Amino acid sequence: MEDNFRHQGKRKLLVEKLKEKGIEDSAVLDAILQIPRHLFLDSSFEDHAYQDKAFPIAAGQTISQPFTVAFQTQLLALKKGEKVLEIGTGSGYQTAVLCKMGAKVYTIERQHELYKKTSLFLKKLGFRPKYASFGDGYQGLKEYAPYDKILVTAGAPFIPKALMAQLKVGGKLVIPVGEDPQIMTVLIRKSQKSFEKETYGEFRFVPLLEDKN
Ligand code: SAH
Repeated sequence: MEDNFRHQGKRKLLVEKLKEKGIEDSAVLDAILQIPRHLFLDSSFEDHAYQDKAFPIAAGQTISQPFTVAFQTQLLALKKGEKVLEIGTGSGYQTAVLCKMGAKVYTIERQHELYKKTSLFLKKLGFRPKYASFGDGYQGLKEYAPYDKILVTAGAPFIPKALMAQLKVGGKLVIPVGEDPQIMTVLIRKSQKSFEKETYGEFRFVPLLEDKN
């Protein structure tokens, strides 16, 4: 699990590229600069780790493109110590970014293989989400609700009601909505009953699936 000067140099270039593409939250850029993304890919694909591309991981899933991770995280407008629920743990890279930024992270993955592999791996690298769970993101994680921020990292055909219900008043839900492509959507909870919606253009994610295999 090496992280050498070559990797670090490539990360610097990636961060420069993300800045050019409009990412300006320095805490987000700093997390990306520090986290060894190449370790989240199979070692044979190491060369792809610092290109701004999505990439296949286990169980037919993908690690999101660095720009997408940076963009979604920037939309969260995260403050240290906030409670964040992530839907779709996947490779754990986004989870690591949130941990690095000082969030209290709760994360859910519906594929058992990925859930097991990633939970162990994050521990090995020293990233400690408060809780990593195996389950269905459509249900959220009621036991620990409400959350300051909720981040969905798969394409949702609609906005799950349970996630809206588990958001604090003043909190934000960032979710790509639609079939293909998805529209990056932010819901801000203004009061117990009212939400404000903002949209941020088209993205492509693997689908948020309802039935477990
Ligand atoms: N955040 C991840 C992105 C992985 S892709 C990363 O940085 O690598 C999206 C992930 O969402 C996949 O791992 C997929 O298995 C998972 N997923 C799909 N539907 C889900 C659901 N209903 N609940 C929880 N996770 C789900």
